[in-house]
Amino acid sequence: ILPGRIKQQESALLHRSLHKAPLEVVSASGHYLTTADGRRILDSTCGAAVACLGHGNERVHAAILKQLNTVAYANSLIFTSTAPEELSRFLVDSTHGHMARAYILSSGSEAMETAMKLARQYFMEKSTPESQRINFIARRESYHGTTLGSLSMGGHVARRALFEPMLLKNVTRVSQCNAYRGMSGHENTESYVARLAQELDDEFQRIGPDTVCAFVAEPVVGAATGCVPAVEGYFRAMREVCDRYGALLILDEVMSGMGRCGTLHEWEQEEVVPDIQTMAKGLGGGFAPVAAVMLNHRIVDQFIKGSGIPSHGMTYQAHPVACAAALEVQRIVQEEDLLANVRKMGTLLGQLMHEQLDDLPYVGNVRGKGLFWGVEFVRDKVSKEPFDPTEGVGIGIHELALEEPFSLSLYPGAGSVDGRRGDHIMLAPAYNVTEAEVRHIVDLTAATIKK
Ligand code: PLP
Repeated sequence: ILPGRIKQQESALLHRSLHKAPLEVVSASGHYLTTADGRRILDSTCGAAVACLGHGNERVHAAILKQLNTVAYANSLIFTSTAPEELSRFLVDSTHGHMARAYILSSGSEAMETAMKLARQYFMEKSTPESQRINFIARRESYHGTTLGSLSMGGHVARRALFEPMLLKNVTRVSQCNAYRGMSGHENTESYVARLAQELDDEFQRIGPDTVCAFVAEPVVGAATGCVPAVEGYFRAMREVCDRYGALLILDEVMSGMGRCGTLHEWEQEEVVPDIQTMAKGLGGGFAPVAAVMLNHRIVDQFIKGSGIPSHGMTYQAHPVACAAALEVQRIVQEEDLLANVRKMGTLLGQLMHEQLDDLPYVGNVRGKGLFWGVEFVRDKVSKEPFDPTEGVGIGIHELALEEPFSLSLYPGAGSVDGRRGDHIMLAPAYNVTEAEVRHIVDLTAATIKK
């Protein structure tokens, strides 16, 4: 066993790790993690696109301490307090009147579970028992979380495999919008979008338009296929199909939202407004586990007319310390105008990645948005034939990058599509990343892939 690594067999901690002997981190500061063997690892992914301010921040630490000394916890089924009130107000206001309320939770999976339940409750309160909308349409290449409901919603084949048949039966699927994989040679963006809209329309027709509760999608696909943005006009077309049949549009912004793609909510760039949106990772920047679901007026008004409350509740919902941490993270993002830096550094990151990675062997596609970029690996660049995930190409590159002389943390993925396609790495630096760091990250990534 290498020094600074913990053997899983000897650990009392039982959780999923990509490594049989994970590196032990002893401190984290700025954009670097220090390991027990003295390595300084450049964190080019903010963990899993989480630590958007980098590691360690005096202002956030002070806000957490202040909250601990004021109200650390109060049962949110009975009481409220300043931090959850302020955070939900901030979130709702950030949508310029489109969203009406925020439900605050602890993780992205919980946020997706909550979104699904509240969508179902909306139709339950609105319709007769005989005309319930119980079906969801999601996309084949997607990841929406690890709890049984959210896992059923996602199409990540490898992560679902052990749990088939899924608990949630009422999810059917359409294609992801993926220009590299899905768009054929004779198509342009417009005709591709028209085909995908027709596919969604056909799916509504197949399962019965009046039975569909919601269409669910990640604006930029994260863990399933590695930072795949939709083409121009795709979400507008999907919104139109949902509206045609009175179904909801749920956007899962857990990974791609809260500034990661250059605007606070990714949907601002798509010129659509979802009925329900989820968010997590960048919301609290990793200083505390925090997530949220926002609901638009249509849904909240129905709750107010009907039962008055969501039929949902969790012990740690709207946790004051998590809310105080998230609020301070969001204040810093606003005050330091970090989204402008995301856009500027994101453009540079994309440009350098294309310049240095496009022509490397096995690099099939470089794509992304804001500070959220992915590299898909293929065996054959012309036919786009994927690697077998058992070959572990994405994970192999990630492991190599962690070693000296690179000492770079990349985020790997594989096996998401038909158990095959989806071998990729993701880059998701902090919102305050500098130009020199962006250049260094791309240099190290290119050097690792070349090796
Ligand atoms: N939804 C998306 C789009 C995600 O990327 C993830 C996690 O990566 C989740 C949901 C689940 O979030 P969590 O891991 O916080 O439960």
